[in-house]
Amino acid sequence: MPESPQPPAEVVLKGVAGSPGVALGPAYELISGEIEVPCYTIPTDQVEAELARLDQAVLTTRDQLEELRTQVAKRLGDDEAMIFDAHILVLEDRAILEETSREIRTRLLNADYCYRAVSDRFLQAFSAMEDAFLRERATDIRDITRRLLGNLTGGRSSHNLGDHLKEKVVIVANDLTPSETAELPRDKVLAIVNDLGGKTSHAVIMARSLEVPAVVGLHEATSRIAPGDTILVDGYEGLVIVHPSEATLFRYGKLRRQKEQLRAIYEAVVSEPSETADGQPFVLEANVDGPMDTAKAHRRGARSVGLFRTEHLFLKGDQFPTEEEQYEAYRAVVTSMKPGSVVIRTLDLGGDKQTDNPVLPADEDNPFMGFRALRLCLAHPDLFKAQLRAILRASAHGSVRIMYPMVSHLAEVKRANALLEECRRELAAKGIPFDPTIPVGAMVEIPGAALILDLLAGSCDFFSIGTNDLLQYLLAVDRGNERVASLYNPAHPGFLRLMRTILTEGKRLGRPVGICGELAGDPLFAPLLLAWGATSLSASPGALPELKFTLRRTTRAGMAKLAAEVEASTCSEDVRRALRAHRDTLAVNPDDLPKT
Ligand code: PEP
Ligand code: MG
Repeated sequence: MPESPQPPAEVVLKGVAGSPGVALGPAYELISGEIEVPCYTIPTDQVEAELARLDQAVLTTRDQLEELRTQVAKRLGDDEAMIFDAHILVLEDRAILEETSREIRTRLLNADYCYRAVSDRFLQAFSAMEDAFLRERATDIRDITRRLLGNLTGGRSSHNLGDHLKEKVVIVANDLTPSETAELPRDKVLAIVNDLGGKTSHAVIMARSLEVPAVVGLHEATSRIAPGDTILVDGYEGLVIVHPSEATLFRYGKLRRQKEQLRAIYEAVVSEPSETADGQPFVLEANVDGPMDTAKAHRRGARSVGLFRTEHLFLKGDQFPTEEEQYEAYRAVVTSMKPGSVVIRTLDLGGDKQTDNPVLPADEDNPFMGFRALRLCLAHPDLFKAQLRAILRASAHGSVRIMYPMVSHLAEVKRANALLEECRRELAAKGIPFDPTIPVGAMVEIPGAALILDLLAGSCDFFSIGTNDLLQYLLAVDRGNERVASLYNPAHPGFLRLMRTILTEGKRLGRPVGICGELAGDPLFAPLLLAWGATSLSASPGALPELKFTLRRTTRAGMAKLAAEVEASTCSEDVRRALRAHRDTLAVNPDDLPKT
């Protein structure tokens, strides 16, 4: 009798818990950045067809580059658009194309493989050149190769993933970027699993806003998981289980039911008042990426938006949105939140939010400390003013506040306000309506800015603490680097002292200070932040029901006691012990859940 095949053994991979939830499904490996290039032989009579396929891909790529050049020239001017002329020259370089054709004919291998092999050789040669200008061309070759291979292979990039996928899958990637996450087909993704990344990488924040479980920082998920493998993703504990056994599936089935029961309990309070058990009101707001998130925000009980991350609009597709497109998106969010207010944050590109657009420098050594957010916008006033005008126009439809990200100097806020004033004048001259008293705020996410709130207060109506960045800059820990994820610890007494200082100083200056980083949505920390005077907490909609449930069980006395304990703690372990002990007094006891 033939032996029945053994089921594959279960493998457990441990990573960083990115977004809560449990999911089970087939793995789909997404090749980020690098396009997966197949290698296969072709019969001699297919050579001409293969060459024609290459020609067609070159033509398609050229069309895309010309379109990009036109768009960029329109928005940013001819100088910025010149980069695409260089790209077209590289694309049509006879040396690369002729050598590729020769390889196809002589080696009888597919066009994608031959093009990649030839471009790799050119890339190496250019990278090794003494001349800085010529070395720069290596970047052009890399960009063009990716784009052309994407067109040749129909690329397994996120760009056209929705068309490829027939079933729901778990995305397994090495380094899923925010722009790739933005393009994922929401209805086909069960969960996200990533080799790199930390709890507050932007791809992870987006996964939370999509409400799909995510585990990141796994180091070797892509090498340990084969496409099609059945995998179970536990976004609570940061585990990925490949080929889960019957016993594991049973255990997770129970966990899932328990979490669903808890969810129902939390969601039962979304329409209840936002006030503590002893009647102190608090404000919970939603973080959104665009109009697609507002229905979810309402369902989770949010009445206003504390952070609209506008970059999402700029990360999708090849081109930046026009002023008109931005206005439509901002207006849609503003009208759907009415009468609640919407804090629209100006563009925060850079850091881990990269695009191919030439306003962003390629290959910065330290992109998180580089040409990012407000710095980039002030260097591109046309781009910035188009956004400011779009926001001002949207302010005619509801309650809008403008917020600048990555403020480090007072002069930046003054310059941004001067550009805003120009926009006001331009709109007024054309009779276009806007809110003339629109409040302006600054994000407090750079320690240097946190220490000059008194100076900034003259130019700002409110502040909002971006804990994701503030923590990484204060502790010198890259928020997206899984190797140092354990050091990215908001319970660090130094970080908490700074949080308290900012909140106290805001009160002294008469400026509201909200919190919109991920910490605001953490039920463990939220009571502490309220105790120190946070005027609002803004979090991804999925986090709001549990947050409200928890805060509705707190009391002023309980929070004050917690704050005193934390202030007296000398290490992060003690801080966490105090936070957990307090949370345990508020949380649902699993034994109280109905048995299933
Ligand atoms: C933050 O830094 O906390 C923040 C809210 O901004 P982002 O996560 O988009 O950098
Ligand atoms: Mg930030």
